[in-house]
Amino acid sequence: MSKLKYESPIIKQINAGITSKFGELNSLKPTTHIANVSVKGMIEEYGSPLFVLNEQTIRNTYQDAYHAFSTRYPNVQFAWSYKTNYIEAVCKVFHQEGAWAEVVSGFEYKKALDNGVPGDKIIFNGPDKSDDDLKTAIDNNSPIHIDHFDELYSLILLTEQLGKRAKVAIRVNMDTGIKPLWDRFGFNYENGQAWEAVNKIIYSKNLDLIGFHTHIGTFILDPKAYGVAASKLAKLAISVKDKYKHDIQYIDMGGGFASKNTLKGSYLSGTDLAPSFSDYADSITQALLNAGFSTEDLPLLILETGRALIDDAGSLLGTVLANKRLSTGRRSMIMDFGVNTLFTSFWYNHIISPAQECSLYTEDTIMYGPLCMNIDIIRESINLPPLNKGDHVVVHRIGAYNMTQWMQFITLRPKVVMIDTKGKPHIIRKEETKNYVSELEVTPNYLNSFDL
Ligand SMILES: *Cc1c(COP(=O)(O)O)cnc(C)c1O
Repeated sequence: MSKLKYESPIIKQINAGITSKFGELNSLKPTTHIANVSVKGMIEEYGSPLFVLNEQTIRNTYQDAYHAFSTRYPNVQFAWSYKTNYIEAVCKVFHQEGAWAEVVSGFEYKKALDNGVPGDKIIFNGPDKSDDDLKTAIDNNSPIHIDHFDELYSLILLTEQLGKRAKVAIRVNMDTGIKPLWDRFGFNYENGQAWEAVNKIIYSKNLDLIGFHTHIGTFILDPKAYGVAASKLAKLAISVKDKYKHDIQYIDMGGGFASKNTLKGSYLSGTDLAPSFSDYADSITQALLNAGFSTEDLPLLILETGRALIDDAGSLLGTVLANKRLSTGRRSMIMDFGVNTLFTSFWYNHIISPAQECSLYTEDTIMYGPLCMNIDIIRESINLPPLNKGDHVVVHRIGAYNMTQWMQFITLRPKVVMIDTKGKPHIIRKEETKNYVSELEVTPNYLNSFDL
């Protein structure tokens, strides 16, 4: 046997995601079109980065969700969670589909009124409702979901001062097996706080208790938790009937269904993990139908689903600013969008595909945004083929929370376009301008002159 040739040992850093030093076969197909509209064409016309929403996907997803519930339960109502995406055109697509509005601030409440939603179809949630907000909601006959005792006392005082009645529900938090417990919102079920609130409302002069509400968390991957929550709310409703002969009109199960995004740290992809609308609907409707309501007392089931209804419909188009080798030899890319634009990159590993034909071989890459800030990382590790400066990418499933949580930090927010069901793009939010930001600033006159 001949002696093997000596090779000196080398130390090579392994980065998560890399399969071999040759890279891996790229299974990502380029996304050249969205709803048959060219990505490149849209960037040429509207600029980069660019948010794109697909109206048909919004409508299809809504109808899937609605049918999952309405085929299992006789009386179902969705209310669009404004904070998930409150661009007017988006809200109006949901309102056209039949969704009410669900708002969590005075600002969102006014947006819903301006959008033409009747007051009695605006559900007012959240811990921050000023007296003025509450007065507006009372005047408009909106269901007010009380979050804490101080809000309850304010309502009792306000209705007395105004000489008007208010329609109220309480938000209830409870142990559903999901950790952490969101007990900072609403009244606790297990320790009797929820009952205490019920008693106070029933004995108050001007408040009508019409419902029970919960929102057990967000991105809940276990549909069974909803069954537990629905049973507990149903039990409250039935006990109110037994004790006070008072009918509860609705049970509102809040939002929190997972979208198909992949959470950071998750081993399996979101498309494999996320339960379907039918899974959630099975769990909730079985619990309500089994709870012991008489047929004529079966409450309306309200759902405030946010992210699961809109994530899929949104894409962010962007452009490569530069490629760079880090000192470790690792490949990095700088994009024209960062965490300012794509806020959800803090908790999702978004799927990102090239927008043009590309090589089959990929390399582990760290994808940076353009901000002068070390935390501006879109993906810590993503396998991408070589892309050149000026090439485009499409970030998928970004419809939820980005167009409300985006930050105006060192630069301006880009345009948002919606492709209608006939394939025609419409600008639904213009890009911001420098004046839009500076017109709010007021400079005392003595600061206006300086010599440099
Ligand atoms: C945020 C929120 C929702 C929507 O939550 P998703 O997780 O996006 O479905 C619904 N109801 C309330 C009270 C909320 O705060």
